[in-house]
Amino acid sequence: MKIVNIGKLSFSYSSKQKPVIDRFSFDMEKGEIVGILGPSGSGKSTLLRLVAGLESPTGGSIAISGRTVVDDTSFIPPENRGVGMVFQDYALFPHMTVAGNIEFGLHRLSKKERAARLAEMLELVQLSGFEKRYPHELSGGQQQRVALARALAPRPSILLMDEPFSNLDADLKVSIRSELRDILRKAEMTCLFVSHDHQDVDAICDRTVMMVS
Ligand code: ADP
Ligand code: MG
Repeated sequence: MKIVNIGKLSFSYSSKQKPVIDRFSFDMEKGEIVGILGPSGSGKSTLLRLVAGLESPTGGSIAISGRTVVDDTSFIPPENRGVGMVFQDYALFPHMTVAGNIEFGLHRLSKKERAARLAEMLELVQLSGFEKRYPHELSGGQQQRVALARALAPRPSILLMDEPFSNLDADLKVSIRSELRDILRKAEMTCLFVSHDHQDVDAICDRTVMMVS
């Protein structure tokens, strides 16, 4: 089953500018991990923002799990798209514990379901026992795993990752690459992974889309 359908998607930040995304069409199968590779400024982040619903396209359409989330006449807001996002700077809430961060998007669940989901996510990213810590008490790699757990906790149908390793040092990057691939496989997650580093993409992704500026 196709889980993402992007049809002739176009976007520009202003009418004077040339389009950042120009009639881009692309499909993803369930469980695929696809890399988006391209130089700085080529529109990678913009593409993820369009899929997430943080920007509205100037043309074209996006469907997720067979449901149109945006086209010329409709727009489903980000919180109803079933999309999880992990950003470059993790963006954890500094005043919340690991548990608080992971449970953040789970207010629709009962208390019991929430506790079970938290335990499942902590186990998935191998941070069981860390739930009472605050982000500043964790290493960069651990913070990144919390961000991943938070994004996966509401069980999104796709996960969008925008240069998630750019704040990690080189050694950590190598180990977290294979960790990430294992976690995504275990969760059977469909993922769009943006990077400017082809080694990240080679290590993690099933196939690659090149963006050109
Ligand atoms: P990438 O993630 O591949 O580095 P971006 O999607 O961030 O690229 O940016 C694509 C292009 O859009 C760049 O030329 C950038 O300068 C421009 N751009 C990005 N964000 C904005 C914005 N908020 N307003 C105007 N132009 C923007
Ligand atoms: Mg970017």
